Amino acid sequence: AKETGRNTYQFYTNSLNALAPELLRLENDLHTALEHGELSIYYQPQLDLTKGKIHAIEALLRWHHPRQGLLYPKHFIDIAEENGLILAIGRWVLQQACRDCHAWQQQGLAGVGVAVNLSARQFLHMNLVEEVSQCLRDAHLAPELLTLEITETTAIHHVQRTQLILQELRALGVGITLDDFGTGYASLNYLKQFPITGLKIDRSFITDIEGDRQDQAIVKAIIDLAKSLEIPIVAEGVETWGQGQLLQHLGCKAIQGYLLTEPLPYSQVIHWSIPRMRL
Ligand code: C2E
Ligand code: CA
Ligand code: CA
Ligand code: CA
Repeated sequence: AKETGRNTYQFYTNSLNALAPELLRLENDLHTALEHGELSIYYQPQLDLTKGKIHAIEALLRWHHPRQGLLYPKHFIDIAEENGLILAIGRWVLQQACRDCHAWQQQGLAGVGVAVNLSARQFLHMNLVEEVSQCLRDAHLAPELLTLEITETTAIHHVQRTQLILQELRALGVGITLDDFGTGYASLNYLKQFPITGLKIDRSFITDIEGDRQDQAIVKAIIDLAKSLEIPIVAEGVETWGQGQLLQHLGCKAIQGYLLTEPLPYSQVIHWSIPRMRL
């Protein structure tokens, strides 16, 4: 029995050890990623279908890992959330995105704003309002050009605190978009309780929109709701002409997705032009 016990114990430690080093190494590397200049922001434009123009660009974080190559948020955002590095990383993203947005005002993208994703931890632990206004000042960026994207999980347990922070951000002139709309169970509550200035329909409703009548009905309902609340809406993850056409037909005024372009490094975004298409 003793033997079995030890074997069982060994079995568990072995299987944990098989996984842990890789994650530990990644976490370790993440500590120095910022100072080594390995993080960068890729940008993905949002097309205003009524004007045929880009009206904002979303900032999406990337990590150029020295050995593993290009890493996406799914590989490291959870680690950064867990160990708290997300605070320093999030601050850096905000600073860099504001600077880049200021720079592209003079490079053919005047009036085009930037959208920055915020995680729950940033929202609760950063001195967010102070840091946002500092970033805007340092970058000489008009607050109206910055939008923060939050999700339903960002602030679900702290309604009053969230209300206060969002009101202060709104007072600065910054926009607040509710990301991944429709995926949680509190979407409507969020709209009611918080000063939201934009909605993003989650990609999961867009993917099969051409074939799935239920998804079509849900998207239509979200678009109509946003319209009656007078909140601008963006559909994310639009990959095909068919999806874009259908969304336009349903009254959606803005789209983002591979149909236009994958997220691009800054140097490419200023040379990028809207692909010719007739929606
Ligand atoms: P999200 O905010 O929902 O961002 C949209 C994701 O969909 C991005 O993935 C984008 O590259 C991808 N995408 C865009 N168009 C299409 C399309 O047409 N088809 C498909 N299949 N995908 C498309 P990405 O860049 O890997 O980011 C994943 C998530 O990581 C983001 O989801 C966001 O929640 C988070 N994230 C990204 N950057 C940051 C950041 O700076 N801070 C924080 N806290 N989170 C971030
Ligand atoms: Ca987003
Ligand atoms: Ca989203
Ligand atoms: Ca998402």
